[in-house]
Amino acid sequence: MKAIRRFTVRTVLPDVLAPLEQLATNLRWSWHLPTRRLFEDLSPQLWESSKHDPIGLLGEIEPARLHELAADQDFVARVAELGRDLHTYLTEPRWYQQTVTEAAPSAIGYFSPEFGIAAALPQYSGGLGILAGDHLKSASDLGVPIIGVGLFYRSGYFAQSISPDGWQQESYPVLDPDGLPLSVLRHPDGSAAQVALALPGDRALYARIWQVAVGRIRLLLLDTDIPENEDALRSVTDRLYGGGGEHRLLQELLLGIGGVRAIKLLTELTDADAPELYHTNEGHAGFLGLERISDLIGDGLSFDEALQVVRAGTVFTTHTPVPAGIDRFDSSLVRQYFSTDLLPGVSVDDVLQLGAENFEGGTDDTFNMAVMGLRLGQRANGVSQLHGEVSRGMFGALWPGFDADDVPITSVTNGVHAPTWTDPALVALARDRLGTSDTTTADWASEAVSDADLWSVRNSMRQQLVTDARARVSAAWGEQNPGIRDPAWFSQLLDPNVLTIGFARRVPTYKRLTLMLHDPERLRSLLLSPEHPVQIVIAGKSHPADDEGKRLIQKLVEFSQEPEIRKRMVFLPNYDIAMAQLLYPGTDVWLNNPLRPLEACGTSGMKAALNGSLNLSILDGWWAEFYDEENGWAIPSADSAGDSAERDKLEANSMYDLIEHQIAPRFYDRGDDGVPTRWVESIRHTLSTLSFELSADRMVREYVQRLYVPSAAAHRTISAERFAPARALAAWKSRVTAAWPQVSVTHVESGGVDAVPQVGDELHVRAHVNLAGLTPADVSVEVVYGRARENDRLENPHSVELVPSPSVGDHLAQFAGTVTLSRAGSFGYNVRVVPRHPLLASSAELGLIAVAS
Ligand SMILES: *Cc1c(COP(=O)(O)O)cnc(C)c1O
Repeated sequence: MKAIRRFTVRTVLPDVLAPLEQLATNLRWSWHLPTRRLFEDLSPQLWESSKHDPIGLLGEIEPARLHELAADQDFVARVAELGRDLHTYLTEPRWYQQTVTEAAPSAIGYFSPEFGIAAALPQYSGGLGILAGDHLKSASDLGVPIIGVGLFYRSGYFAQSISPDGWQQESYPVLDPDGLPLSVLRHPDGSAAQVALALPGDRALYARIWQVAVGRIRLLLLDTDIPENEDALRSVTDRLYGGGGEHRLLQELLLGIGGVRAIKLLTELTDADAPELYHTNEGHAGFLGLERISDLIGDGLSFDEALQVVRAGTVFTTHTPVPAGIDRFDSSLVRQYFSTDLLPGVSVDDVLQLGAENFEGGTDDTFNMAVMGLRLGQRANGVSQLHGEVSRGMFGALWPGFDADDVPITSVTNGVHAPTWTDPALVALARDRLGTSDTTTADWASEAVSDADLWSVRNSMRQQLVTDARARVSAAWGEQNPGIRDPAWFSQLLDPNVLTIGFARRVPTYKRLTLMLHDPERLRSLLLSPEHPVQIVIAGKSHPADDEGKRLIQKLVEFSQEPEIRKRMVFLPNYDIAMAQLLYPGTDVWLNNPLRPLEACGTSGMKAALNGSLNLSILDGWWAEFYDEENGWAIPSADSAGDSAERDKLEANSMYDLIEHQIAPRFYDRGDDGVPTRWVESIRHTLSTLSFELSADRMVREYVQRLYVPSAAAHRTISAERFAPARALAAWKSRVTAAWPQVSVTHVESGGVDAVPQVGDELHVRAHVNLAGLTPADVSVEVVYGRARENDRLENPHSVELVPSPSVGDHLAQFAGTVTLSRAGSFGYNVRVVPRHPLLASSAELGLIAVAS
């Protein structure tokens, strides 16, 4: 049977309600409570049935109801007031306008394969997309001028249901763009703007450009499902992470190259500023750099010169230490796609070099998007301190000769958008007692909020989750057993007074969905403890192609279906933003048990903490940075365990022990008023110390100050005088790279220290360096020193630059300087030579180093 064709007819609003149009289409409603309330009051029933989607609601509402409201002066005044509030929000100077001055980039292109903004726009699969959505929302709140770029997937990710025997079923509901908060970017004559990409065989891929208003941020989503495309190409943007190899490559070519072209159209057709820099959220969008190189080649630069300009203006964020999370393509496939008119002026061999794994043990056969990201971005970061460290180790081969600490990948710890993720009940408490709706800066330590207040809000959030879980289980039953009444025990599913543990995530192996089942008897006794019962709410999607992940879900579902267990443990199908917004606040303890250090950050625990849930987690990702013994519990990692089974066993047992001996007793230790004072102390501590730190506002400010502003400044400098500095830098790099194999430290002399060195002594160092034709100004010669450790390692090394002294011969130069011995204990040092240029962001940038032997 052929699918029916459908579209949504938009309602005509009475004039006095006209502001509802913009209030519904600008996604700021998704995090602005008063606007949400307004839509709810329009029709509480449609608000529920539309799953909190203003456009869906306006599409269904009866004209009679609208006319009734149009006659209600209070309601009309509310609509007008919220319309004005939105206008102010969109136009007033905010943090960025107030604090970021001259060097402020006028616009930033932010590219991501997925964006999780609201349940009503399902264009995300998990953490990466939700982070991107939160990034846009905080950028909007802070006034940071970002243009977002992504793809519009006709079927989003997938909707999950669970068969009676526990097997994940996927369905792909087709989205109707007319029913979503999207508008087409158009030319003045009304025709839709389009980007086109040349493909092999004289074919072309076309895409139209949807615009989404996310507060002050414009998000562009490219869509290939248009008649201009041949049939096979219409489905390029059918699903998120749907296909393999070629399908994925086409999506990424469109995202990167098409995305930059879409921004160009946007700046031609609207008053939008052109970006001064680009931020690529994970490697998938990396081809954006190639499109910009192609443009610069069109302006008369060589590939190498253009590369310098693009690097200066690119920030690359890597998101995973798990190899399967990194896109890799056959080089031959990439070659095929770039041996066309796709990128005028760019040779296919230059493209292939950028993604080649031609370092330690790698080959040219594989094209690696993360490696390309690092080569195209002068600034790069991981997403927690630990992940930064892991990334420096993982990608260190790109900077051979440097210690991991020197690898130029920094970290900006993720954050989550507090207005999206904080439960309205907690916001109301802050407003009523602390005089602010901003929960991230509210003074939670204040006595104005009593323990009983906090506990009562926590109880209400738990109750809300229990109600929601019952409704979801009942709805799923109804779908699978039409016409058959719910089993009676559904009304006792979960208990609003029992210690509630939440666990929800995608299901890759490293997240260890089933670790809690390691010892089923132990888990059973925790759940069924007469004195200190525990209940667990679980959710998560497995990638459709991952049968192993589906088996893990099945194991959990089977266990949770046992008659004595089923009231205390439930798997909720179809984890998404809407569920998550009730799940995090409703759980007392948020559990995370990844294999350290494979969780780059993990943001769900942050969202839980913003609601006063306490974390129980392996010390991985953000938790390794923020656990302080009072805000939750750390499951010790059994890193030194013999094998993975042993490790699972040790870590699972630690987790059971913590729940049994520490968590449950504290939760159930109540005063006469029923309040668990000690527990509430931890909640209060969590809210007062973590709320701002874990917020996306903190994260976006860090990106602006540490990466965007320096990147924009570097891009301006290198582009000045019609790119003269870029040309000079490219020439310098090629000269230095050619000479480098001959550069060496031939001899090191030292003096000034007695046979028994003492603190305060000065060590004079003189190094003889063969510069191989380079000048002393081309290099930095440094003494690197610190506490000497085994294996020739220096702990916490410092460096002092040596100054050139008059030359002694043709190629030989001398450099000298002094190190003060400031600490007792073992001391070690060495001399190294690295390239030096004012336009380098790090002396490791070229991956060139010469060390005294
Ligand atoms: C926050 C969130 C995630 C990511 O959580 P992790 O802890 O990073 O696994 C995934 N899905 C949804 C719906 C979320 O809200």
